Amino acid sequence: MTQAAPQIPLPAPQPESDFYWEKCKEGELWLRYCAMCDRSYFYPRDICPFPDCFSRDTEWIQASGRGTLHTFAIVHRGPTPAFRDKVPYITAVVELEEGPMIPTWLVGIEFGEGEIRPDSVQCGMAVEVVFEEIDENISLPMFRAA
Ligand SMILES: [Zn+2]
Repeated sequence: MTQAAPQIPLPAPQPESDFYWEKCKEGELWLRYCAMCDRSYFYPRDICPFPDCFSRDTEWIQASGRGTLHTFAIVHRGPTPAFRDKVPYITAVVELEEGPMIPTWLVGIEFGEGEIRPDSVQCGMAVEVVFEEIDENISLPMFRAA
């Protein structure tokens, strides 16, 4: 008897984020934007999260998908079996052009003899979003060197 490969834990869309996940499936990254304080934010929720604002005057905007690598870690030992199957991989925080920070994965980095080696990953490097279809409901936004 063979066992199915373990799957990484996936997000469970909520009413406030259904639109976000629908757009990810279409290959688009969307953010919430607060018209009261003129700031965008992530993760998606209806009420502006900045303590000096908390406005409900918010709406969806499409992000450019471009940003810079704020920080990253190369994972060589996964925390659970599902992640162990994926090592080595890079977890990252990307600062989007629109301002918000988004936790994500940095992909397209060669760990062998390829063009981009992990020692060429630099904080501040330009990155752009790509989407990995995980199943029929979830496509995860990840980033690669731009
Ligand atoms: Zn606000």
